[in-house]
Amino acid sequence: MDPKVYKMLEKAKIFAEKTGVAATQAAQNATKVAGDMAQATKLNLQIFDLNTECEVLYKEMGKLVYDIHLGIDVEQDAMDKYLSEVDEIQAKIDDLRLQLSQTKQQVTCPVCGKICQKDDVYCAACGAML
Ligand SMILES: [Zn+2]
Repeated sequence: MDPKVYKMLEKAKIFAEKTGVAATQAAQNATKVAGDMAQATKLNLQIFDLNTECEVLYKEMGKLVYDIHLGIDVEQDAMDKYLSEVDEIQAKIDDLRLQLSQTKQQVTCPVCGKICQKDDVYCAACGAML
């Protein structure tokens, strides 16, 4: 391979690794802070973290496509691995979004603490006005 191209690819690789590390640290910090936050905020942060993970994978996939274009030997199942990882993350995001929409439709009874629906006028457990 052209040594200039090789050098550039090495740089690209180092950049991709650094990006990965930064994303992981951001995700860890976000998770730590989430401890005492409201449920909806927590869910939003988890979705944000997963989206960040996806962005890193998209970047890796793009690099892989370009490596193939350049005729570089790549792992046979590398793309399948990335795709199934993204599928898994997207499934988790869907689940969290569902939880989030449910959380937004709920209120907690001020008297007994039961979780009620936002449209309810009275608490189903104790009858208090919501
Ligand atoms: Zn109640």
